[in-house]
Amino acid sequence: MAVRCEHCGRKACYYRLASGELICANCLENSVYKQVRKYLTLYNVVKRGQRAAYLVRYDKVSQCVAMLKVLLRIAKVLDLRLVALVPEHALDNVSKTLRILRSEGCKLVPYSLLYDPKALSLVEYVKLNEIILRDIIEKHELDVAFSPLFRDELSLLAFMGIATAAKHVFSEAFPLKKVRSLLIARPFYFVTLFDATALSYLHGLDELMDLSIPYSLEPHEKLITEQFYEITHGSHELLYSTRKSVEALQTYVISNATRCSMCLAYSNTDPCPSCTDLLRKSQQGLYRTSE
Ligand SMILES: [Zn+2]
Ligand SMILES: [Zn+2]
Repeated sequence: MAVRCEHCGRKACYYRLASGELICANCLENSVYKQVRKYLTLYNVVKRGQRAAYLVRYDKVSQCVAMLKVLLRIAKVLDLRLVALVPEHALDNVSKTLRILRSEGCKLVPYSLLYDPKALSLVEYVKLNEIILRDIIEKHELDVAFSPLFRDELSLLAFMGIATAAKHVFSEAFPLKKVRSLLIARPFYFVTLFDATALSYLHGLDELMDLSIPYSLEPHEKLITEQFYEITHGSHELLYSTRKSVEALQTYVISNATRCSMCLAYSNTDPCPSCTDLLRKSQQGLYRTSE
């Protein structure tokens, strides 16, 4: 007997760890859609008719493309225009899907990373993605950047920021970063990477899962990441409850902090320590786009 979806009674295909639900592909996508809408409303991120940039990450191509489909559904409802940065090498592999997205009104801009993947730490890589997004919204005068960081990753960054007492790391766990008219939002604030991975499988996008990771964990990052997953494994409540910790510690982080003009994070210095390291490693430049 087939296992049924708890919502619609159709055949279930996914056990959702965060909620314990058995769910079908349709209901999973609808639920993720609602999580993104909830974030956009709760944090008042976009207005109708605005223009947004989005980035498909090197290390999460299939998940980011699956989530781009969700964003496009929202873009239709809210009359948003989307510009998506896509890794050049991924364009061929997911060309069919991307062609569909393009026909639905999404502008695609190919980009390439130019450094040795072993040169950057995890935090530097996170910041690099948002520096690229910040550049693009400045250059094209867009209203907002959508950065594809997932619930579990944001929780890890909060944990890492507390463990290292680093404001510029901890404030990466915030729901958004805003400096003057520059806004970097995290639309997947409530979406887990597990759900995005499941969606990418269900859309047949998983062929890109094995791309090499474009950063190396520094020894302290490795230690903290292992501890983090050990603590949160089996307790998904913890992934969500970090939102409360972030809010509780926000005042402490903001007090006496300035902003890093590169990644827009709170920091004691400008640029922040991670962006200073990035600049040191980037004599040849860190990325290029085709326009
Ligand atoms: Zn269902
Ligand atoms: Zn910075």
